[in-house]
Amino acid sequence: MSEHHRLPSPIGNPENKVFLEAAQNNQLLMKYCNACKESHYYPRTICPHCGSDDTTWIESKGLGEIYSYTVMRRGVEVPFAMAYVRLQEGISMLTHLTNCDFDAIRVGQKVKVVFQETQDGQKTHLFEPA
Ligand SMILES: [Zn+2]
Repeated sequence: MSEHHRLPSPIGNPENKVFLEAAQNNQLLMKYCNACKESHYYPRTICPHCGSDDTTWIESKGLGEIYSYTVMRRGVEVPFAMAYVRLQEGISMLTHLTNCDFDAIRVGQKVKVVFQETQDGQKTHLFEPA
């Protein structure tokens, strides 16, 4: 079993507090705008699409596909992979990939959310092959 890359802990702020708390319960939340019917990430009070503050939290199914990715091997203790994942709900998030062969990662690959503890014990979202 190889050592895992130590995940950085998410930085909390008033706009992502609910999001980070949900991650502790293995829930991936995102913001949905009641005015323009669009979802967005990262969580913000004001909709980035239309400027409305009529936004609510909804739970993502956590299913998506890899839009682009990079594998970090140089200058790091343990290689790790980062990807832009496009969720079924239409939003994209920059995230770590886990539980996968880094040489087998493909653009368009189906992935699903998984939660792992970061270095300080908080849980955060990552994605693994679906
Ligand atoms: Zn909006």
